[in-house]
Order: sequence, then C-alpha cells, then structure tokens
Amino acid sequence: MRCLVTGGSGFLGSHLVDRLVAEGHTVVAMDNFVTGSRENLGHYEGDTRVQVVEKDASEPFDVEGDVDFVFHFASPASPKDFVRIPLAVIKAGSYATHNALELAERKGAKFMVASTSEVYGDPLVHPQPESYWGNVNPNGPRSCYDEAKRYAEAVTAVYRDHYGVDTRIVRFFNTYGPRMRLDDGRVVPNFVSQALRGEPLTVYGDGSQTRSFGYYEDIIDGVYRLAMSDVQDPVNLGTHEERTILEFAKAVIEATGSTSEIIHVDAAIDDPQQRHPDITRATTLLGWEPSTPLAEGLAKTIAYFRASMGK
Ligand code: UDP
Repeated sequence: MRCLVTGGSGFLGSHLVDRLVAEGHTVVAMDNFVTGSRENLGHYEGDTRVQVVEKDASEPFDVEGDVDFVFHFASPASPKDFVRIPLAVIKAGSYATHNALELAERKGAKFMVASTSEVYGDPLVHPQPESYWGNVNPNGPRSCYDEAKRYAEAVTAVYRDHYGVDTRIVRFFNTYGPRMRLDDGRVVPNFVSQALRGEPLTVYGDGSQTRSFGYYEDIIDGVYRLAMSDVQDPVNLGTHEERTILEFAKAVIEATGSTSEIIHVDAAIDDPQQRHPDITRATTLLGWEPSTPLAEGLAKTIAYFRASMGK
C-alpha cells in the first residue's frame, strides 16, 4: 500500500510509519511540525519508502498519485497544548479530519482516525467500553481536544455511512514511550525528566486520579491489526496497567533510582478521575492484547530520555 500518515513525524505517527515500512508499505508522512519532530523520521533520510511533506492538514491539501490508506494521526495531544495552542488542537480534530476524509474519498482510500479516551471525558463508567457515550464538558479547558475528537468521530461516521469510505476509529488511552517530547507536559515525560534532574515530581492534586499506561509498541500493533481488519466500529487500545498518579510517581522514582521528592500542586481543572479501558472489543475482534508490563516499558522509556538528556 501507499499510505498517508498525517502527523507522521509525531510520537505515535512516526512509530506507525516505522511499522508500515516494516510491513512493506510506502508512506507519505505529513506534518506541520507544531509538535512533531524531523528527528523522529530522520532515519529515512534518502530512503524512497518514506516521503516527508511539511503541510498543515487543517488547510485543504492534496497528495499526488495514488493513496490506498489515510491515517489521520495529526494532533497535539498534551493538556499543556490545550492551553498553549487551543486553535491548532481544535482544527486538527475538526478541519484536518474533514480534509483527510475528503482526500480518502477522492482517492478511494481506506481511512483511520486517531481518536482518544478523552471522548469519554471524566467517565462515570469503569472500565470504559466503546459503547459509553461519555461525560464531557463542552466548553472547559480540555474541550478544544475532547470535542474536536468527538467531532472527528462524527464526521468519520458521516463519510462511512453516507459517502462509502471504509473507515476505522481507534481510541487511544494513555500511551508512552520513546519519541515523546521531553517538554510536552504530559505525566510520563514530566515525571521522568523531573526524576532524572533530581527535581521534585509535581503531582497535580492528591494524585488519586488514575491512568492506564500502554507502551507504544503494543498500541501500534493494535493500530496495524485494526487497519488490516474490517472493523468499522470504534476500538479502544489501552491496557489494564491502571495506576493512581501518586503510585506512578513512586514507580518512576524507583525505576530511575532518583532521590527526588514528590510534591503536590494544584489539581488540573476537569482532570478525568479514573481512566481504564475495556479492551474486550480489540481482544475479541483483532486478537490483540498488550504484552509490555509497565516496569519494562518504563525502563525503555527512561533509557530514551536519559540518552536525549545526556544523563
Ligand atoms: N499529571 C501530574 N503531574 C504532571 C503531569 C500530569 O500529576 O506533571 C497528572 C494529570 O493531572 C493527569 C495525569 O497525570 O491526572 C495524566 O496527565 P497527562 O497530562 O499525561 O494526560 P491526560 O491523561 O490527562 O490527557
């Protein structure tokens, strides 16, 4: 296949590009480099299998030649970005999804949108199955992301149901690993970089809120299986490695051997209190199961951050 990956130079986008190439496909990797990094695909310099194109998917765009599969992965995804660049966030979920779907329709390509556990908002159902409609604030500090991703799913359903595009919707839960930006503000890079610098780990609020952590390799394997399947309904990809944020801070201190202390700072507004995916659908329909324990994924991620920080 010849694939288009929007956000191809981002954290998950670039790992998807690697997987597609490993499976024998060629890729056009589009990115506006607002949060993506050229280094993430630097290993394809001079390699004709991957063409890196600098373009903002939220502006109308075209791609020359045939395209068999469009993966719309472009979006800032850190709560820090929701405050720093909210318009870029909302456009990536809305205009850019619309543009990517239009391209898929024009090219007769299959389409996958990267959605998120944020469509469940601050969920009242645990664990969260795909059938849950969520508990989302439509105009709070996270709405530029949550509501844009909900729109992204809605417009994808329109192209699926009314324009015959063969679509996939993947809902990512917290995913971590090498190529996350050190300063992206999310909990994994924050805690790891704080621990490696010997600075206090900043737990927002009392730290009783939970997240379930998925290692990128497992998650990208789920993405590839979903792409190759005929499953058009949304699919959660995440793990049962649910931890409170306080437990996670302690795990990072232990794994880094750091002497950092833990401090509590103001809780984030509308911070989801419990997040844990029901992955029955992925397990049953895709034969997929995550296999990397948190300790192992964390050790590999710490090694990556150590190298990039020179620690
Ligand atoms: N968090 C924290 N300290 C930090 C960064 C994040 O306590 O320095 C918490 C945050 O409040 C949330 C969880 O960690 O409960 C995960 O936050 P992240 O920004 O990684 O992404 P989210 O899952 O909220 O989208």
